[in-house]
Amino acid sequence: MNELVRRINSCTRCILSKTRNKAVPGKGSLTADIMFIGEGPGLNEDKTGDPFVGQAGRILDEMLASINLKRGDVFITNMVKCRPPKNRDPLVEELEACKDYLDAQIELIAPKVIVCLGRFSFGKFFPDEKIGQARGKPREWKGILIYPIYHPAYALYNPGSRVRMDRDFLKLPGLIEKALTLKEVDEVEEDGPIQQTFFS
Ligand code: URA
Repeated sequence: MNELVRRINSCTRCILSKTRNKAVPGKGSLTADIMFIGEGPGLNEDKTGDPFVGQAGRILDEMLASINLKRGDVFITNMVKCRPPKNRDPLVEELEACKDYLDAQIELIAPKVIVCLGRFSFGKFFPDEKIGQARGKPREWKGILIYPIYHPAYALYNPGSRVRMDRDFLKLPGLIEKALTLKEVDEVEEDGPIQQTFFS
């Protein structure tokens, strides 16, 4: 991971590198069972090099606290590691340029659950679906439980959505437990791939 962070910090693969102050590789436990993937750094993240340290981060912290999790228990990162100017949406070529870094993080950390914060993150795994319909419903992707929810910033601009977000978040502990239990089955399984899925 240190090598990956070094590469991200010195990356010049896309134009975001020209305007960034600091790249934001991601932060948290390298052995986390749960990974959160946001969209991209904002102003405060660009200043500090840490993910979700602004207002959206406050909401994420509140949601984590609601299920007794701390940042150190999870790993938090973004689709793009450098701030898009004026917080615009990341462009396809920027997402593509940054893709290898996120893929390497997923491989290194090997989370059992990935929480997609918003449509860009969900789009990585299920590009043809809409977050509005998919949110709050767990999926499976390469043996990882994918759980899409609204981006915390959405709650800032649409206060009415906060109730739905909180409700979606409260389902996480049960899903995590289920994903961990399945992993244990996987580990004792000796005759080929497991038959059990998150939904069986
Ligand atoms: N929004 C994101 O998607 N990521 C951050 O790190 C901060 C705000």
